[in-house]
Amino acid sequence: MAEHDIPRATAKRLPIYYRYLNLLLDSGKTRVSSNELAEAVKFDAATIRRDFSYFGALGKRGYGYDVEALMNFFGRILDQDTLASVALIGVGNLGQALLNFNFHQSSNARISAAFDINEDIINTIQAGVPVYSMGDLEDQITAQRIEVAIVTVPSVAAQDLADRLAKAGIKGILNFTPLRLDVPASVRVQNVDLTNELQTLLYFINNVDLANE
Ligand code: ATP
Repeated sequence: MAEHDIPRATAKRLPIYYRYLNLLLDSGKTRVSSNELAEAVKFDAATIRRDFSYFGALGKRGYGYDVEALMNFFGRILDQDTLASVALIGVGNLGQALLNFNFHQSSNARISAAFDINEDIINTIQAGVPVYSMGDLEDQITAQRIEVAIVTVPSVAAQDLADRLAKAGIKGILNFTPLRLDVPASVRVQNVDLTNELQTLLYFINNVDLANE
């Protein structure tokens, strides 16, 4: 099965499997069963077996999966060997935090360029990342072969920015604004609305409290 045919839910679990297999390998473990994996990553064993079957990785009965083989295989799919350069636009509170974080747990992605309109931070280095003016956006995306952009500008600026990013050939946007972006089919948008996540959590907590009363 080609990589683009993998169900989205499965693709989202891949990095989690990959990270755990990495830990297992570091601790010297050579094989793992779907039940052990299930325990560790908190997906049920049937889901894991189904996910793995999409890749033709079939565990042997009574043996489980070979940790190193599985890890190398997933690593290739996740493209761990190539370091993806990511742009961050909007170095405000959230943008600044993400620059500091810089996805250390993931070895295949790094924010390599940040952009802002604020003259005070343009041409400075923030958390090891150069901040460029918005005028440099297209040139840097091309020069650094950037395919993914993190958007942490105010909502009012997000759609114009998304249009520019799409034109510049960006393939994916991690959108931290509450605005739903309108983009061409060539661009994939992943929305991360932290306020919404917190509201959802509070909603569930309150409902559980009501049920227990
Ligand atoms: P946050 O929402 O991350 O907490 P904040 O409250 O510090 O940020 P915002 O007003 O949300 O500030 O702006 C986030 C950042 O986006 C700021 O650094 C601001 O200078 C920058 N910014 C604002 N408009 C644009 C734009 N059109 N293009 C690029 N950057 C912008």
